[in-house]
Amino acid sequence: MKFGGTSVADAQRVIRAAKRIVARKEAGKRVVAVLSARGSTTDELIAMAAEVSALPDPREMDMLLSTGERISCALCAMAIRDLGHDAVSLTGSQAGILTDTSHTKARIVDVDAARIQRELDSGAIVLVAGFQGVSTNQDVTTLGRGGSDTTAVAVAAALNAEVCEIYTDVAGVFSADPRIVPDARKLSTVSFEEMLEMAASGANVLQLRAVEYARNHNVRIHCRSSLEDGPGTVVLGEGETMEQPLITAVTHSTDEARLTLLGVPDDPGVAGRIFTALAEANVNVDMIIQNEPISGGHRADMSFTVPRSDLVDARSALDGLIGELGITDVVTDEKMGKVSVIGAGMKSHPGVAAKVFEVLGGEGINIEMIVTSPIKISCVISGEHVPTAVRALHSAFALGEGATLQERPFGDEASA
Ligand code: ADP
Ligand code: ASP
Ligand code: MG
Repeated sequence: MKFGGTSVADAQRVIRAAKRIVARKEAGKRVVAVLSARGSTTDELIAMAAEVSALPDPREMDMLLSTGERISCALCAMAIRDLGHDAVSLTGSQAGILTDTSHTKARIVDVDAARIQRELDSGAIVLVAGFQGVSTNQDVTTLGRGGSDTTAVAVAAALNAEVCEIYTDVAGVFSADPRIVPDARKLSTVSFEEMLEMAASGANVLQLRAVEYARNHNVRIHCRSSLEDGPGTVVLGEGETMEQPLITAVTHSTDEARLTLLGVPDDPGVAGRIFTALAEANVNVDMIIQNEPISGGHRADMSFTVPRSDLVDARSALDGLIGELGITDVVTDEKMGKVSVIGAGMKSHPGVAAKVFEVLGGEGINIEMIVTSPIKISCVISGEHVPTAVRALHSAFALGEGATLQERPFGDEASA
């Protein structure tokens, strides 16, 4: 059972989570709960670091950030004990979560669940601090924003758990962010394929790495509300039967930054050098566009997007190459957004992209970059237009509560 930050934000909610955990235990289950830092604790810790350092040391950043989830676990263990059950809180390191050494976005390389098993065998409820581990260098690491989801999935995999329940502040995975689209529809199931695209394109209800880990290790995820009972969304493995609507969800992100390199030499191997430098700096590049040089020139322009939080790292990774390759200029745009339409059904239906562009055009929104996969169409647009774009697409594809499958546009006429 994983509880997110809002679900343990204050004393009442910690107690509510404790009661839910205890109810599971009393129903005869062995329970491990992974908790996030309370409310905006992680943001506050990041702000604290910014007060003392312009570029905080990543190792020390992890020492700092890992404290948030420890607080939640210790408090919840106390509350569970008061409810008459044995409980023990563990740091990521104590829980056996081994990661690589890339501070602030470490990857889990192994989970040794022996300690958790021992505590479970003794009858205790185990609370594991989310979002953290210990590196192969024995330093504390954190797993990137939203990383408690990954802790939960990794622990579930190591224990061969029946299910990994992700308790959050919404009732499940919706056809769009319910904060932006009030009539968004809760999906009772979603395939791994679609959930991966959704998480990758901004639906932060489940962290991308958690979904990847769950797919690779066959973990059943049930994403549900911590505030009310009732079923949420189950992420289904490939092969499990389900309907395949044309469009499943509209996702968005408002924290994209774009870099444009002007005058990049049009020679073999240049793109390889640029993106190797970025990869070595652990920068996640999303969309890439390169224009061929205009008639006869030997230099091209290249644009790509990165999460805004990676912009500084991206710039410094490129510093050396700029002179070496004779790149004329680097233009950055920090206020980009992205809107994406996702659906496994679009594989076999042409015309979806045209409709997306038409809808955005109808709203007077300029599309700056486009990237597609077999089940996704993403458009980079100016950040300020994101909410309008999401609502317009959600309604154009009739994804809302109340719209039935039959009513949804894009029957056979779509291919015409
Ligand atoms: P937690 O703290 O529980 O991990 P998060 O804030 O990380 O919660 O994720 C839950 C939030 O994800 C919701 O409050 C919602 O605004 C947002 N969200 C974005 N896209 C979606 C979506 N498609 N379905 C559900 N929630 C979404
Ligand atoms: N507390 C961390 C964050 O805010 C991890 C998490 O909540 O999953 O990103
Ligand atoms: Mg989260």
